[in-house]
Amino acid sequence: MGLSEIFVQTNRQTEFIDITSKVQSEVSSNSILSGLVTIYCPHTTGAVTINEGADPAVKEDILSVLNKIIPWDYDYRHLEGNSPAHIKSSIIGESVTVIIEGGKLQLGTWQKIFFCEFDGPRKRRLWLKFMK
Ligand code: ZN
Repeated sequence: MGLSEIFVQTNRQTEFIDITSKVQSEVSSNSILSGLVTIYCPHTTGAVTINEGADPAVKEDILSVLNKIIPWDYDYRHLEGNSPAHIKSSIIGESVTVIIEGGKLQLGTWQKIFFCEFDGPRKRRLWLKFMK
């Protein structure tokens, strides 16, 4: 199986975007009934995470704390000026792997998969690799 790709248009400098339905669509169109999917972010100022999707305040709280502990105003050396975004990307991580069973992503009741934008707005891509 090859590599699948999904695209995400972000609208703010930092935000979490629910990509669960996009990932599920790829699982379905690739006819994967049982296996694993790794969702990989090939960007150094973005990340992927799984967390609560029912209450939008959860993602806002995560972003709020990240913005507090990794401030924009600090004596960073990276000349591009977006070091906080690089640091958040490394802390959250570049990929997650999700179990697929019965053709469905196996996520907990409250779980959603999020693309994490830390230096937007931008058009981002994510790579999906299926393992049967
Ligand atoms: Zn940079």
